[in-house]
Amino acid sequence: MDVSLIEKAAKRAGISLTSDLVQKTACFIDVLLEANQSVNLTAITEPTDIATRHLQDSWIPARFIAEGAAVIDVGTGAGFPGIPLRIARPDLNMTLLDASAKRVHFLERVIQKIFAEELLSLQENMMKQGDLDDIDFSVAASSHLSTCSQISAETSHPSFISSPIPRVIHGRAEELGRDPDHREKYDVAIARAVTALPVLAEYCLPFVQLGGLFIAMKGLDDETEEAERAIHLLGGVVEEVYRYKLPEIEASFSLVIVRKKTATSLRYPRRMAAIKRRPL
Ligand code: SAM
Repeated sequence: MDVSLIEKAAKRAGISLTSDLVQKTACFIDVLLEANQSVNLTAITEPTDIATRHLQDSWIPARFIAEGAAVIDVGTGAGFPGIPLRIARPDLNMTLLDASAKRVHFLERVIQKIFAEELLSLQENMMKQGDLDDIDFSVAASSHLSTCSQISAETSHPSFISSPIPRVIHGRAEELGRDPDHREKYDVAIARAVTALPVLAEYCLPFVQLGGLFIAMKGLDDETEEAERAIHLLGGVVEEVYRYKLPEIEASFSLVIVRKKTATSLRYPRRMAAIKRRPL
């Protein structure tokens, strides 16, 4: 991936990237495009489209996310917006959630490649604490990508809630949202292109702690009218609908910014069948 496209996309999104973070972003896109030849991960493959539709779009919400926030990207797919956001904002504690095993597997490989340095320093810290039992680090040559680090590591350590690397979870939002380890534990739940807003609110708001944000990345139709009742029932209030454009794309986009005002009732999230049968 041509780094000048990445730099331009970051500038347009109001993000400042060091050359190291530009390289990390390029590495992520290279790994994505290579994997996309055998596994269907993205329909967007032209470099200029990737720069605007995937990168710039993923970086726009950064302005709403406070320093050091714990963020969960619900239905992250191939890592959007979570991976570009986390690369650009190393202060974020990022969790990536998806129901698809093949996408989760891809994300685990991506993290091994692009967060190798962070994994090594984590390894050093854990060595100091004598706590390496649950983690398996390996050193491997990265054969083809000059922009990628040469070291990779494998981990599914469960206690990475405060982690220097993104955490990847294979699961369904409506199940994880009932798990006490995840329920109301995040400052921000964000989602792009997952489902209609009333259903998305039921997936995302249970993860958000009081005072935190649910950010829904939507098109021109922000869907707030049909989702108002659901958002209210789940303890949220629409604070702002932020509209924006992307270069050379006619359509507008919107971020629905929902503030969590009251705790979500234990009735929610419901099981998938009930959510589908009777959306809030
Ligand atoms: N957010 C990414 C993006 O904008 O490119 C991926 C969008 S893709 C169209 C939707 C993703 O949501 C899929 O990867 C799917 O597996 C995931 N998904 C759908 N329902 C889900 C659920 N209930 N829990 C977790 N992931 C879900």
